[in-house]
Amino acid sequence: MTKSIKCSDAGKTCGWSATAQTEEELMNMVTEHVKEEHKEIELNSGSIASIKSLIKDI
Ligand SMILES: [Zn+2]
Repeated sequence: MTKSIKCSDAGKTCGWSATAQTEEELMNMVTEHVKEEHKEIELNSGSIASIKSLIKDI
């Protein structure tokens, strides 16, 4: 199973998307992207939980 996430699904005007084999790997990619491009998003347990809810199995 491949995990996928799109920034636009979070309501961002951003074309970034990522896929990975595991949720952990995908969240690492998301964390790096947020730190680089979306500094306004504070990564805490609440925001991480809502990001995880956007992950799709493809
Ligand atoms: Zn983005």
